[in-house]
Amino acid sequence: MKRFDAHCHLQDKRLTQRLSQVIQNWSRSGGGFLVSCGTQESDWEDLMAIAGKTDTVLPCFGIHPWYVGTLSPTWQENLGRYLGRIPSGVGEIGLDFTRTAPDRQLQEAIFVSQLAMAQALRLPVSIHIRKAWDSFIRILKHMGPLAGGGLIHSFSGSCDMVPLFERYNLHISFSGAVTNPHNKKVGKAVKAVSPGRLLIETDSPDLLPRLPVPCKDKINTPANLLVIADAVASRLKKPTSTLVQQTFDNGTRLFNRLTTPV
Ligand SMILES: [Zn+2]
Repeated sequence: MKRFDAHCHLQDKRLTQRLSQVIQNWSRSGGGFLVSCGTQESDWEDLMAIAGKTDTVLPCFGIHPWYVGTLSPTWQENLGRYLGRIPSGVGEIGLDFTRTAPDRQLQEAIFVSQLAMAQALRLPVSIHIRKAWDSFIRILKHMGPLAGGGLIHSFSGSCDMVPLFERYNLHISFSGAVTNPHNKKVGKAVKAVSPGRLLIETDSPDLLPRLPVPCKDKINTPANLLVIADAVASRLKKPTSTLVQQTFDNGTRLFNRLTTPV
């Protein structure tokens, strides 16, 4: 059965040495699409090379909030050029107000300018928000609903915010956190999402879910998406196959400009 991993980082050095194996395992167990997000200018070319080789990988190019300190003077032109070279989305972009993250004003400025680019080009966006919900909502209200849609990846917000984000044309994506049975907050959020806006992701190589057989090297791969699908399905009291189909349909609709039938 085809699956849709809505957010991962295949160009990460922890995955690149064994990428052909990772993609083979994915295809062998049913295939589908993997949305791989860039994080800084230095990984865009590697991502381009990976996405150019297979229709399975859908690329997004962007500056992650952790890396706003690494920008070259021509980063905006560079981003525009990558977005024009291949069908792609904008991401991973966002706001991270946890303690060790870079300057908040700089993060906001870089986030807003990338969102504006996505709006102008009507491209889907992959968004990272940590402890920055008020600022994000202020920016969304100023920007208006996203023209090309988007998703909030590894959603950690409260269930009350979900209807607002849906009105701004956002999907909500859940990662390995749903596999922790003690995480009640994420369970409530899963139930608050409209069926047509629900997505699942691995965020590979990070955010390893709780696996039935622990993984020695702690490196997450897209093959673990099924464990996340199982956890979301059980919280929604649905069969896993229904959830997998639903999130595949939602993902391919959101990223339809990037997909060619597989
Ligand atoms: Zn990520």
